[in-house]
This record gives sequence, structure tokens and C-alpha cells, in this order.
Amino acid sequence: MIYLVPFDEIASEVFGYLERELPPVLGQEVVTRQRLTYPNRAYDPFRRQYRGEAFLESLPIGEEDRHVGLVDADLYVPGLNFIFGLADRSTGRAVVALPRLRQEFYGLEPNGELFLERVLKEVLHELGHTWGLGHCPNPRCVMHFSNSLFDTDRKDPGFCPRCSALLSTPSEGPLLARGG
Ligand SMILES: [Zn+2]
Ligand SMILES: [Zn+2]
Repeated sequence: MIYLVPFDEIASEVFGYLERELPPVLGQEVVTRQRLTYPNRAYDPFRRQYRGEAFLESLPIGEEDRHVGLVDADLYVPGLNFIFGLADRSTGRAVVALPRLRQEFYGLEPNGELFLERVLKEVLHELGHTWGLGHCPNPRCVMHFSNSLFDTDRKDPGFCPRCSALLSTPSEGPLLARGG
């Protein structure tokens, strides 16, 4: 089972979209859980950003279940300017940050459909990490590393044949995947 976990207020449209689009790709049920409040001490007043790990650590842990937190705040981890998301294979938890997936973050015209597609790809990517997938050299594969949204927009919302095969035989990917 895949659980989506909103942190604070996030448009319900995002969850409706993910609940519809994720199951056909993953072959698993997707359920949105009750929202959580922002974890204490998540905000860094010097960087004016939130610590990604604080959100990751406040998610529940399931044995086979996966928990993906969605946060509408700019996240970072030490050593990186910002992150689109992060994932922890050992606990099956992941977090995706929404602000930088919006066109208007870059001063462009809002595009709701593009935003939702990007959220879907980031959620799939981080889920892939929780199942042990590393980054994929295929630029169309959802496990390709996103340096920027150009990379994200070029990807398909799905796993390439190589990654799909790896998903059915769990590999030893990175324990903690930070960045995207
Ligand atoms: Zn791949
Ligand atoms: Zn990644």
C-alpha cells in the first residue's frame, strides 16, 4: 500500500490526481492519509528554507507500506541549495517538495496540468528510491536524475524496462537518496 501524507494545507486536487495516476503505474493501492502539521524545528531562519529530513522523519514507518509526504515549502538538505525530494529505502519513506514544480516559481505563467505531471514524476521517482532503485541513464525514465525541471519534463511518468525489471528483483540502491 502507498500512503500519501499531506503536510498542512495542500489542494485536494493533487491527491485526487495522484490516487488516479499512480495505481496503473505501480500496481498498488494508493490512499491519502490525514494531514500532518509541520515538524518542530523544521524551519531554518537563516536559509529561509525547511529541513527535508525533519519531514521525512515525522512520517510513519510501515513494513512493506510506503509513505510519501508532500510539502508545499522549499526544502533543503545540508550540502545542497534545494531538493525536489528525498527518500529513505530503509524505512520506506519519502518526501516531495512542491514549490519549485510550479511555473510561477520561475516567474512564468501558471500551468496546473504541468504542475500535476511534475508532482506525479517526483513521487514516482522517490518511490523508486524507496524500493532500491538508483538513478537511471535513460533520460525518458522516471528514475533519471533531475538537475532541473528540463530533465523532469523530458521524462515519462513511468519506469523504463530496465528499472521495471529491477523493481521485481529488489537491488541494493542508495539507502538515503537526497536531491531528486
Ligand atoms: Zn530506468
Ligand atoms: Zn533521485
